[in-house]
Amino acid sequence: MHLQSKLPNVGTTIFTIMSSLAVEHNAVNLGQGFPDFLMSDELISLVNSAMKNGFNQYIHMNGLPLLRERLAEKIEKLYQTKINSETQITVTPGGTYAIYTALTTVLQKGDEVIVFEPAYDSYIPNIEINGAKPILISLQHPNYSIPWDEVKQKINSKTRMIMINSPHNPTGAVLSEHDINELRKIVADTNIIILSDEVYEHLIFDNIQHQSILRYPDLLERSFVCFSFGKTYHCTGWKLGYCISSVELMKEFRKVHQFNCFTCDTPKQVALAEYIQNEEAYLSLGNFIQQKRDFFRELMKATPFKLIPSHGSYFECYSYDFTDETDKDIAIRLTKEYKIATIPVSAFYKDGIDNKVLRFCFAKKEDTLKKAVEKLMHLK
Ligand code: PMP
Ligand code: GLN
Repeated sequence: MHLQSKLPNVGTTIFTIMSSLAVEHNAVNLGQGFPDFLMSDELISLVNSAMKNGFNQYIHMNGLPLLRERLAEKIEKLYQTKINSETQITVTPGGTYAIYTALTTVLQKGDEVIVFEPAYDSYIPNIEINGAKPILISLQHPNYSIPWDEVKQKINSKTRMIMINSPHNPTGAVLSEHDINELRKIVADTNIIILSDEVYEHLIFDNIQHQSILRYPDLLERSFVCFSFGKTYHCTGWKLGYCISSVELMKEFRKVHQFNCFTCDTPKQVALAEYIQNEEAYLSLGNFIQQKRDFFRELMKATPFKLIPSHGSYFECYSYDFTDETDKDIAIRLTKEYKIATIPVSAFYKDGIDNKVLRFCFAKKEDTLKKAVEKLMHLK
């Protein structure tokens, strides 16, 4: 049988490759981004109660109304923007799905989408499967900032969307108010839609304020903003998130969503509607994860890796110059010989650009981080 691939140049995601290699070689996994500490016991009990209390059938296709109402309350407190919970929020099976659905909702064949590299690995295949073209722009070394002049040059009548991600995976870079103003100037008087991936909304360090698109109602009018409960509540395996947009865009988003997923896990939404009222759980998250970053950073000083500072997310990148190996080769060698798995950052570039940088996930117990870095001290 002949099948014409819709994604002829796509292989298996680097996260699956490195996690499988970590299991095979019994390595400490600082590759794929997930915490190895326990999530809230209280939240687990709330799911359990919801199931026992009969919340086990389909819930509303846009998400449990009470959860959406409480999300709107949270957003108003955090970002001083009023969101209509009925028309502007849809609960999704994870952030990745929300991104895919937003792209599928708006992209037509031949459209162009501005993507900044390094980019989370689902973005480009998600654009291409919709027949659109990624227009790649490299973030600038050393702090991975957006070269706005280059963005201006690359905008034309085919530009349909600009994708931003702050805090950024894999670099931990965060956007500033200046960036948002540049973005605003560029999209003014155009039909460009913004996709803002904010799954690391609360994982932001060094007292920096998260520049959510939700703070800017004028930009929200033309944006899809994507979130993940998995990141906020240390339960990446739950695969639950949500998307926020304008009334008009959300109406179209739901047309796609209703025939793909239709509705998400009911008992977890019931539990989250209750637990989301605990503000401390998300307000303390930045400091909690920053302590892990600082602990990991200190340990890494004893290794030959050079720090590229992260200000948010689960990740910190490190460069190396002690070997000529490619980042993929060294990531594989570290997993096999030194029993520590990482992610080679070239996987976040469409053309595999190798700047000899590895991404480490520090959202781990201190013991795990110690065990991992001890191994790296003997690195040659
Ligand atoms: N965007 C980025 C930048 C991510 O790192 C991730 C990884 N979790 C996601 C989206 C997807 O989140 P989810 O697991 O909720 O699909
Ligand atoms: N977002 C996680 C990371 O960047 C992994 C998600 C996935 O495995 N697709 O590591």
